[in-house]
Amino acid sequence: MLFSYLAAELKQREADGLLRRRRMLESPQGARVRVDGADLLSFCSNDYLGLANHPALIEAACRGAQQFGVGAGASHLVTGHTLAHHQLELELAAFAGLPAALLFSTGYMANLGVITALMGRNDVVFADKLNHASLNDAAQLSRARFKRYAHLDLAMLESQLAASSARRKLVVSDAVFSMDGDLAPLPELLALCEKYDAWLLLDDAHGFGVLGKTGRGILEHFASPFTVHTSRLIYMATLGKAAGVSGAFVAGARELIDGLVQNARAYIYTTATPPMLSVALRESLRIIADEDWRRERLAQLIAQLRNGLKPKRWQLMPSETPIQPLLIGSSMEAMAVSQALQEKGILVPAIRPPTVPQDTARLRISLSAAHSREDVGLLLDALHQLEQQ
Ligand code: PMP
Repeated sequence: MLFSYLAAELKQREADGLLRRRRMLESPQGARVRVDGADLLSFCSNDYLGLANHPALIEAACRGAQQFGVGAGASHLVTGHTLAHHQLELELAAFAGLPAALLFSTGYMANLGVITALMGRNDVVFADKLNHASLNDAAQLSRARFKRYAHLDLAMLESQLAASSARRKLVVSDAVFSMDGDLAPLPELLALCEKYDAWLLLDDAHGFGVLGKTGRGILEHFASPFTVHTSRLIYMATLGKAAGVSGAFVAGARELIDGLVQNARAYIYTTATPPMLSVALRESLRIIADEDWRRERLAQLIAQLRNGLKPKRWQLMPSETPIQPLLIGSSMEAMAVSQALQEKGILVPAIRPPTVPQDTARLRISLSAAHSREDVGLLLDALHQLEQQ
């Protein structure tokens, strides 16, 4: 049989508790979702501000469809680049406080596009061990040397930078680590990049919209007393998480963005995203900037969870963001807890290797402004009950 090795691998995965299965949603994303026929309270999405099903975004998307149709019909460099994309790029650059921005179809493609455009055989990419898979894949595809440092170990990064005589150096880091919820130390990373003449690519997929008083992400979070005045910074954020829609952008120096239009293959060789999404995203930016209460609600829910959850066997990881992982250890136990929660009507995903390191399987609890205090209370009660069983 042509694929018998795959069948054997699938069996092994199942035996190890590592088989991945897709759930099927029959409702919009939200605090409550209908999944495989059941109504569940969900702590599973990256819809941190509760915008994915917001009436104003839906209305904007419909308006965008009326004006531009549903498909872009071509890549950006042919005829897919519309006024809607253009206006959104201007607003994203202004929002991030950087000179220019470029829209990509997804965060995965943005990372692929940037790293392969900037780096080549004689260069080195330095990466935190817990970075998102898309950054690692991009580094591999670029053919640059790929050096990883232990999570947040800046001493190790510094010794790697000091030892390198590469033509170009790029330090790459998640801004908010997607499976841990902790933050990259931006001022220190940038100082190292200054010292060793490296660029810094920050992936703010989970900080954009969430961090900072007005949701401008990691740059705003560290803005006082630290302010970013450097063209070394390459800022990337996704638009399918807190922004509630889809896509991603890269922002930074004007020459960087102009260079990406010429060289980023994941930008050039793909159909532009439907313009209606850009129209929806402009509405999303307005809500992110105007509605501080969403971030305030999130902060209250995070505090409620952290103050209220006192696990004995399991461990809440140190995170101040809406990503609140509960470390369980074994994949089998993490799956069993996730399953038991689901039987109580609560959806929390178990995250297992290879997404996280061996023996660190966890429940990835993600909070959203769409949740209420009562929702978090239900989760706390259910977890306490389960730990005692
Ligand atoms: N970077 C990080 C840190 C992420 O968590 C993700 C999504 N999980 C991505 C990039 C990819 O973004 P997208 O889903 O838009 O492809």
